[in-house]
Amino acid sequence: MGKPTGFMEYLREVADEVSPLDRIRNWDEFHLEMSPERLQTQGARCMDCGTPFCHTGTVISGMASGCPINNLIPEWNDLIYRGLWKEALDRLHKTNNFPEFTGRVCPAPCEGSCVLGITSPPVTIKNIEYSIAEKGWQEGWITPNPPEKRTGKKVAVIGSGPAGLAAAAQLNSAGHWVTVYERADRPGGLLMYGIPNMKLDKKAVVLRRLEVLEAEGVTFVCNTEVGKDLAAETLLNDYDAVVLCTGATRPRDLNVESRDLQGIHFAMDFLTENTKSVLAGSPTSDYISAASKDVVIIGGGDTGTDCVGTSIRHGCKSVTQLEIMPKPPESRATSNPWPEWPKVYRMDYGQEEAAAMFGDDPRVYTTTTTRFEGDEQGQIKAVHTVEIEWQRDENGRFSPQPIPGTEKVLPAQLVLLAIGFLGPEQPLLEALGLERDVRSNVKAEEGQYTTSLPGVFAAGDCRRGQSLVVWAFNEGRGAARECDRYLMGHTELP
Ligand code: FAD
Repeated sequence: MGKPTGFMEYLREVADEVSPLDRIRNWDEFHLEMSPERLQTQGARCMDCGTPFCHTGTVISGMASGCPINNLIPEWNDLIYRGLWKEALDRLHKTNNFPEFTGRVCPAPCEGSCVLGITSPPVTIKNIEYSIAEKGWQEGWITPNPPEKRTGKKVAVIGSGPAGLAAAAQLNSAGHWVTVYERADRPGGLLMYGIPNMKLDKKAVVLRRLEVLEAEGVTFVCNTEVGKDLAAETLLNDYDAVVLCTGATRPRDLNVESRDLQGIHFAMDFLTENTKSVLAGSPTSDYISAASKDVVIIGGGDTGTDCVGTSIRHGCKSVTQLEIMPKPPESRATSNPWPEWPKVYRMDYGQEEAAAMFGDDPRVYTTTTTRFEGDEQGQIKAVHTVEIEWQRDENGRFSPQPIPGTEKVLPAQLVLLAIGFLGPEQPLLEALGLERDVRSNVKAEEGQYTTSLPGVFAAGDCRRGQSLVVWAFNEGRGAARECDRYLMGHTELP
């Protein structure tokens, strides 16, 4: 460990971002890099605490905590303190195939579980990860690294999101021929068409990595929906193994009065067409514009935040984000001595931009939608809401109860539904005859990833339900390991 007293000498610093009023003028990424000198002192803040919850990916008080892919965080913090960037990149790549993605989009459960965080602000882990990855690209250290030998085995990966990409990278490194099938026109899953460009640049960052994967020998077949354009049976016959990484793509709907009005869309339709339009340089035929509209976003999570940032860049007239849950506390309870995921009130990038534009956080808490109201042309005109309070029902479960007299009518010409996902689409799973769990996800045990069909594995959101990019990496890597073991009788994949 480089500097035992670093945590006592240096304060936490984080990377600057382009200011909200500047960044909303374009679709460019708003992350800015920290100087190597600043990163060095931030790396020196790591205490080498001896029980690094940050990298263990453990469960504390029922909450997942730490890095799901067990990044060797204390090791690369120390290497950065000592200025050994190439060595830090090697350590980072041992556990993470694509640190340039997590360095940008991960909510950093590692920082939430940093032991220093019990008494002081935690180590700036995410910014360090980002800079190690970017240095690797800038210095030309990240180049195609195809396997020396091929096993002759063929694996089909269905779905090219982070789980599919991680599985493909690992299986290819083990020498198998990997073909990734993707129904969209470009690979990347939600890295390409969910998370917007200003958070994760598609050309400069996602395509850059896809090109390396192709040069390493991974084949991508886009515009091909397995189960529709290509029979699932054909894949089972043509490949030695199949890894399903089809995501949790069924959006949750809101069945209230007048849901069928024009101008009410699922968030993913809005976000996907927006990114396609950004990449094309002009609006696609299915582009949904928020320009000059009062936008109401229903749902307070990441997807809702991306809709806020996107609507603002379109030039919306106003934006409101409805959240049924209560506003989180400003800081975590002092009675809690454990490092854990920070469930505290924070402004994400979209809310910061809305506040800069319109003067306030756009989120309205403990509020639900009672009905939509349209005009004579069948176009959405207003959203009717009511405040709720959470009360226990007769079974002891919390349920939202409307508070009389708190009804409101919000003007809206565009409504975006961002209230989560109901798991994977079922037809392909039915065609394969796969068992499902109670939530209709593919049934495959965590750590094993084997489905009810021998030789078919499942990873990512289609197995665990909607989650995070870093969990998709964890699962893709794990499924690759078990798939390799199935194919070869043993495995050296981690
Ligand atoms: P996906 O990324 O969903 O990829 C599945 C792919 O399979 C898709 O490309 C789909 O087209 C393809 N597919 C499906 N069926 C077929 C078929 N039959 N044939 C061929 N292809 C098929 N997580 C974070 O950590 N940070 C964030 O900032 C963040 N932001 C998010 C923003 C949005 C809008 C959303 C919706 C999610 C966000 N998440 C974020 C969650 C994260 O993106 C997902 O957990 C992750 O992408 C899941 O990876 P996956 O590979 O399992 O599935």
